[in-house]
Amino acid sequence: MRADLTFSELHLGVLRAELCRSDDQEYAAYVLFGLSRIQEDPFSRQPRLRLMVKDVLPVAEEEIKSVDHQHISWSTNRFVDLLSRAEREGLQIGIAHSHPRGPNYFSSQDDRNEAELARLAQNRNGETAIMPSLLFANGELVAGRVWTSPDNVVDLEYARTIGSNWQTIFFAAEHNVVSPTLARQELALGAGFNRLMGHMRIGVVGAGGTGSPLLQQLPRMGAGHICIFDPDHVEHSNLNRLYGATWDDAERKVKKVEVAKREIERMGLGTQVRTYDSWIGSAECRDALKSMDLIFGCTDDHDGRLLLNRLAYYYLIPVIDIGLALRVTERFGISCLEADGRATVLEPGSSCLVCRRIVDAGAAAEEALRRTDPEEYERRKSEAYVRGEGNPSPAVISFTTSVATMAVEEMIQRMNRFRGEDGSIANRVRKFNLVEDFRPGARQEPCRICASDRIHGLGDVQPFLGRAG
Ligand SMILES: [Zn+2]
Ligand SMILES: [Zn+2]
Repeated sequence: MRADLTFSELHLGVLRAELCRSDDQEYAAYVLFGLSRIQEDPFSRQPRLRLMVKDVLPVAEEEIKSVDHQHISWSTNRFVDLLSRAEREGLQIGIAHSHPRGPNYFSSQDDRNEAELARLAQNRNGETAIMPSLLFANGELVAGRVWTSPDNVVDLEYARTIGSNWQTIFFAAEHNVVSPTLARQELALGAGFNRLMGHMRIGVVGAGGTGSPLLQQLPRMGAGHICIFDPDHVEHSNLNRLYGATWDDAERKVKKVEVAKREIERMGLGTQVRTYDSWIGSAECRDALKSMDLIFGCTDDHDGRLLLNRLAYYYLIPVIDIGLALRVTERFGISCLEADGRATVLEPGSSCLVCRRIVDAGAAAEEALRRTDPEEYERRKSEAYVRGEGNPSPAVISFTTSVATMAVEEMIQRMNRFRGEDGSIANRVRKFNLVEDFRPGARQEPCRICASDRIHGLGDVQPFLGRAG
């Protein structure tokens, strides 16, 4: 069993402010967590628990029984109250406390107290209840663990923040692999960037026009783990933009994920690749999607986009969604090419694809129908109740590659801040024909996905992502 933790920059800031104060006393807080249970991690093939911080509730002064710089003890009445809230809201309740001057590890007193809280949690909320615990020392988060029962504890491997600044705190010492292939990149982006690339699990949904240039770049940037999702096979009409694909692949109808995997393995750079050739909503993709630290959305399908749109907010997994629209229009009797590339980052704090009017819910419903009931779909198409697939859209490799690069640069910014502290851009549209970038906003309407924090970091719910069907 492995475990890790994700929180927003905001929640990490609140925990630091509450627990690490200048008076050198120990402090404690309750933390509400959403939970993601993964039966089989795509790389380790082991079960995995991922925790997402939902809320931080400081232990109030009147609850504290005794405190100094080496210990804190408080009444557990509120813990019991919070257990019923956690059960009602489908959450887990855990604690965070500080050792102002160290040590950087849990004490034997912590072990005894936490085992008791884990017992309370399971007595109240059943055997599936877990009790996470975080430890701060000298102003930093230094350790974390999850009690899966009163006598079994799993250490967290790492904690990461999302938001405009993606930080990862490693708890277990990882050996640093120095690779000559990444030396020049290290000169530009630093050793920390290379290390994080090797560690992260990156999903690429769609291995077509915009996905294939990404799948060329990420392994050469040191990506250690890549999952590729695409049900389609190579067609002759893809060969103008699909890196690595050959005429023979199109003749033999080779799956796009197979071409991408073959090309990455041919590089010989040690990237581990897992491929999924079914639609991302299918059960066989679920654990893999939930295991990712970052996903690039390179799909044209509206229903797939809607699914990723929810996944980003439910599981705190940033999604960088990519789009390209080429249109040939008439202006003053002259035909012109309008070319818009877009990279949109989906995570709490940023507006979602629905609010940005990027996904078309009607088109998504038609795609769902075509997938689940092809006969009914064809019947409606013949009666013109559905719009059908329409004409193929124009595509040129230079633009598909540029828009993939825009997305990679957004990733670099959030890991390295090369554009400065405020350089992260949630939604960027590049008008290639005008040689200009724009940052369109979103409509300001109440949205159940991005505008309310109820589902942010909620994790597993029935049905998956609260989607019907
Ligand atoms: Zn302690
Ligand atoms: Zn929204």
